[in-house]
Amino acid sequence: MSTNARPWDAIVCGAGIAGMAAALALGRAGARVLVLETRKKLGGRATSFTDPRTGEELDNCQHVTLGCCTSYLHLLAHLGMHHALTWHDQQFWIEPGGQRSTIKPSPLPAPAHHAPSLLHAKFLTLPQAATLSLGILAALGATRASWQGRLFSTFLDEASQPEILRKRFWDPVVISACNLTPDRVDASLALKVFQEGLLSSPRAARIGIPRLPLARLYDAFAPTLAQSHGQVLLGASVAQIDEHRVTLADGQTLHAGHIVCALPYERAATTINPALQARDNRLAPLANMPHSPILGVHLAFDAPVLDVPHAVLIEGATQWLFAKDPSGARIHAVISAADAWADLDEHATINRVLADVHTYFPHSRTIPLRWGRVVREKRATFAPTPTFERLRPSVQGHSRLLLAGDYCNTGWPATMEGAARAGYAAASAILGTDLTIPDLPPGPFVRPASAAW
Ligand SMILES: Cc1cc2nc3c(=O)[nH]c(=O)nc-3n(C[C@H](O)[C@H](O)[C@H](O)COP(=O)(O)OP(=O)(O)OC[C@H]3O[C@@H](n4cnc5c(N)ncnc54)[C@H](O)[C@@H]3O)c2cc1C
Repeated sequence: MSTNARPWDAIVCGAGIAGMAAALALGRAGARVLVLETRKKLGGRATSFTDPRTGEELDNCQHVTLGCCTSYLHLLAHLGMHHALTWHDQQFWIEPGGQRSTIKPSPLPAPAHHAPSLLHAKFLTLPQAATLSLGILAALGATRASWQGRLFSTFLDEASQPEILRKRFWDPVVISACNLTPDRVDASLALKVFQEGLLSSPRAARIGIPRLPLARLYDAFAPTLAQSHGQVLLGASVAQIDEHRVTLADGQTLHAGHIVCALPYERAATTINPALQARDNRLAPLANMPHSPILGVHLAFDAPVLDVPHAVLIEGATQWLFAKDPSGARIHAVISAADAWADLDEHATINRVLADVHTYFPHSRTIPLRWGRVVREKRATFAPTPTFERLRPSVQGHSRLLLAGDYCNTGWPATMEGAARAGYAAASAILGTDLTIPDLPPGPFVRPASAAW
């Protein structure tokens, strides 16, 4: 199919979650959309690859979602993939030596649904659980706007949360959700995780884990777009973006009524025409925004190691383990905010994760590791510091160029949900229709999300 016979209604640059969400929403409204993606596959940072060593399709990293991620779940439904997630109400928190506590919802209404299991958690003494409950209540009652631009560690100071509770509870949750430590992360983002994720309702806190390699979730993307006469070009690298025109690396020029730039922010900053950037003050700070790394480590053992679907390793260097097969012999380890691991080579990284597996699942010490594979994402997400949070650009600005990406100012941490929200917001701006997917209703005793801001 020719791509430049007549102008497109919209060109979407980048086929990560944000670009796909924008394109599908536009296509559903009848717009003719062209999607340009530099790689030969879809999904951007949330994708999988064929491992040349094993021939297996591996995720770049385990991606989990929560029940509160309504826009991302809407996108999956649009792709016919809402059934591809397994939902877990329980979280398994493991201590060194293997003692485990299960955090799960009780029949109590939100925000108290997790209270009984936290009070009975073996990794907390009763006085610690009581102090933690006060901290959680403080998080629930906090007004996020007043915490924007401040550190979450300051919030924990003011809520009198001792070091032991930070290491055992606050750090694992905040580092996994925000990809930054509490002493660096913007407090409003961390508070959002607690208010809208864990505390607003048991449904919001459910953990969804894909049963398929991530790239398979997008198999229906091109056919769905084709239904509205849209098209996806893989291997099409965008060299320059103007308000109504995109120039590809091969020199081809394509025209459209609207352009959505759904590239990572560092690419957006170098690709959008400098003259356009000079007129549009959203883009100026993008290039210098810092990133935060994540490591994903695939491990294949000779026998079952994990007897739970996933595990939080309390005070572990590795934060989460996920079982990748029903037996628990295939494991995926995740290390968020992984700056301290930057200098380790693959062998040293695997050994460090293996040491954690042995510490938290002692029976694994006798089980040989067949192979390991490390995926290092140095630019996994933006680093959501208070400075970054202030600079996050809006989807719509003074020019007609729309931005879409997890870095836009959706109020969400760098997540698939933030990306999907930005994509839908870009489509809304083009169509002049509000396509916002509603949040889950909060529990009867929880403030609505808007009141918590
Ligand atoms: C290791 C890791 C673990 C994560 N874990 C989770 C998790 O558990 N849960 C969660 O919700 N989120 C998680 N995230 C974050 C999540 O993956 C991202 O927030 C989300 O995928 C970002 O989507 P995006 O569309 O904004 O950007 P991207 O995914 O970066 O999409 C941008 C697209 O633009 C393309 N592109 C770049 N340059 C060009 C060019 N010149 N021309 C054309 N195309 C171009 C890229 O190839 C890419 O496909 C994780 C991220 C990583 C890296």
